[in-house]
Amino acid sequence: MHSDLNNILLLDGATGSELDRAGVDVGMPLWSANAILEAPEILRQVHIAYLEAGAQAISTNTFRTHERSLAKVGMGDRAEELTAKAVEIARSAVNEVNTDAIVFGSVAPLEDCYSPELAPLSKVCEEEHAQMIRYLVNSGVDLVLIETMCSAGELCAASIAAMENTDDWAVSMCLKQDSIGILLDGNPIDEFVPALARARFLGINCYPATTLAEQVTYLRSIAPAHMPIAAYGNVGTADDEGGWVNTDAIDPIAFAAYAMDWVQAGASIVGGCCGTTPATIAAIGKLRCSNPPP
Ligand SMILES: [Zn+2]
Repeated sequence: MHSDLNNILLLDGATGSELDRAGVDVGMPLWSANAILEAPEILRQVHIAYLEAGAQAISTNTFRTHERSLAKVGMGDRAEELTAKAVEIARSAVNEVNTDAIVFGSVAPLEDCYSPELAPLSKVCEEEHAQMIRYLVNSGVDLVLIETMCSAGELCAASIAAMENTDDWAVSMCLKQDSIGILLDGNPIDEFVPALARARFLGINCYPATTLAEQVTYLRSIAPAHMPIAAYGNVGTADDEGGWVNTDAIDPIAFAAYAMDWVQAGASIVGGCCGTTPATIAAIGKLRCSNPPP
């Protein structure tokens, strides 16, 4: 049953919560971007911990290095510098632990996650994401990963911006719970997935690990046959008041079992999103190692 796990690409887990755990100030509005300036070595150690746990790809800590995010603290003119520095830190970790590992340049929504109504007009999204993607590509990332996308307009704009700057890009979506294949903004994903055929992979992230498999099954069914599917879930779920409740996926062993469900549902790229740790990634890696190919 586990044999498919031997062919997956193992991603890393959450960076922001790990920085928080290490005592780095990750308060709004700079959030995890603060670490690039204030705690670059701790950030590098977070990447190293994931690589040592078995991650074959790590994501740059560029979730909040868009000019728009940095401008909120008067640092808009440092977007290129901070993005490049974040890539350099990730690359340095890869060079130290595993030079075969891949560096994904993370591109997040321009405004708050989970708030599709805040997404700027498509033209603005395209311009601002294009700038960010150029910074990432120029800094030498191996692939541009547009992730946690919750607005169809912004997702498509960012994908166009990526296509204009690189062949190596991928998109991961943030879906509504309690329905199948619906983006957080209410748009059915089958309306735009066919237009993303040139992506290196399509994914779902920032979704409860416990129920992610059913979304993977659906995405697999509507994505082009050649398209790899990525899945990286959360250890918890948002409650009705907008708070956070952990599920049993907080336990790395339980999380790894859910990850196996995603693989069986058709995912070939798996890892962790909010709340996951190097122990989570190690647990998935262990499932794999305990079942070597025949
Ligand atoms: Zn997340």
